[in-house]
Amino acid sequence: MDPAEFRANGYQLVDWIAAYLDDPSRYPVLAQVRPGDIAAALPAAAPEQGEPFAQLFADFERVILPGITHWNHPGFFAYFAITASAPGVLAEFLSAALNQQAMLWRTSPAATELEAVTLRWLRDLMGLDAGFEGVIYDTASISTLHALAAARERAVPGVRTHGLAGRDLPRLRVYCSEHTHSSIDKAVILLGLGHEGLRKIPADAEFRMRPDALAAAIAEDRAAGWLPLAVVATVGTTSSTSVDPVPAVAEICAREGLWLHVDAAYAGVAAIVPAFRHVLDGTERADSLVVNPHKWLFTPFDCSVLYCRHMDVLRQAFSLVPEYLRTSDAPDVRNLMDTGIQLGRRFRALKLWWVLRHFGAEGLREHLAEHIRLARLFADWVDADPDFERLAPVPFSVVCFRLKPYRSDGSDGSDGSGLGRAWTEAELAALNQQAMDRINAGGEIFLSHTKLNEQFALRIAVGHLKTTETHLRRAFELLKQEVDGGRQAVGGG
Ligand SMILES: *Cc1c(COP(=O)(O)O)cnc(C)c1O
Repeated sequence: MDPAEFRANGYQLVDWIAAYLDDPSRYPVLAQVRPGDIAAALPAAAPEQGEPFAQLFADFERVILPGITHWNHPGFFAYFAITASAPGVLAEFLSAALNQQAMLWRTSPAATELEAVTLRWLRDLMGLDAGFEGVIYDTASISTLHALAAARERAVPGVRTHGLAGRDLPRLRVYCSEHTHSSIDKAVILLGLGHEGLRKIPADAEFRMRPDALAAAIAEDRAAGWLPLAVVATVGTTSSTSVDPVPAVAEICAREGLWLHVDAAYAGVAAIVPAFRHVLDGTERADSLVVNPHKWLFTPFDCSVLYCRHMDVLRQAFSLVPEYLRTSDAPDVRNLMDTGIQLGRRFRALKLWWVLRHFGAEGLREHLAEHIRLARLFADWVDADPDFERLAPVPFSVVCFRLKPYRSDGSDGSDGSGLGRAWTEAELAALNQQAMDRINAGGEIFLSHTKLNEQFALRIAVGHLKTTETHLRRAFELLKQEVDGGRQAVGGG
């Protein structure tokens, strides 16, 4: 592509992106295609002759766009709502052009050093302890895998050389709550501990890990010959965004000599808001912590940060320098390949740097606080409406609730018009599932669900920069319409 062509195509693309970012709500938020539709619309083989860019772009609009679920849509309330903000998008464009491979300091001095500086900024914005040093990976799953690999390295001398199998070693155990993200399970599996090497600790009525149950489990395991290795505490669990009692867990870890990893992938950035600083209390005693700027910090996917207080242990676990990568650079330069599995790594710090600078601390605080306000407002509507039931506290920007249409005798039982009993759990689950499916098929908003105390829960996750009170009102209105449908379908009052 010659420069003139690149310029023309680039301008066209920028125009398209600008219009898209301005108003993605002209598309259905959840892709309305069926499995196989996109693949079937594509040729079976790569083209023999090169094709003009105009054709490529036309096929993007014709074939690909219908299969896009719009995570950058203000009506996206599913899972965790995220935003690829404009400065981050532009940084990704530039990053692709620069094509940095920051494996060694010399292969990208700027990416290496900007990463260190930007992660110190973020650390300080969140009020994290100054003993934490950061490194960027793609996702929280990989950040956590590295944290637990470091924990294993510290607890089992020689594991790097001798491995775990066929040795005189007790079985290793990692602890987390029953609400912890599945990435912990995968890390434990991958590290050779076996899935049984993860013990899930019961939670209290507000879905927080019970420290008494943790201490008891560790004691029981030690008595039975296990070697406790690490605890993963979560600040902002995936289902309900509950916060484990990190100070109490840290106390147990200190007493037992266990690595404490804090999974704050989604909620950690809330600490940028002064009133939420306390959610990271206790992390000053953690060994590692993960936070994802790609989740609630307006940075395009992907960008996850692992903060670790023992980068030397991480290096001990992963540093391996073949001859062809030896350099004469000063021995204290940081080579990012030493702190993880990946050799080559892309220039993710650029987008985070631009996001932090574009919004400023003030802008970030305002947007985060507004998302929290919106979620609480939605929770208030739920609480005030007899046809709804809230199923979890709202510590951050996610509300867990369900439709539970009111029956006019006030007991959720019969109003004398047919049903002489309360809703069953199965009926409520069916009603809420159906409501969610119908709303998602409408394309205006996208909701997801979870299960809390064996109850089917809908989730509203606020996290997109352009989501306003109007979008939430519309979501509530759509849910109200389903209440009336549900009441009639089951034949209640
Ligand atoms: C989203 C999330 C993860 C997984 O994040 P990825 O970056 O997609 O791997 C892990 N833990 C928590 C608490 C999360 O919210």
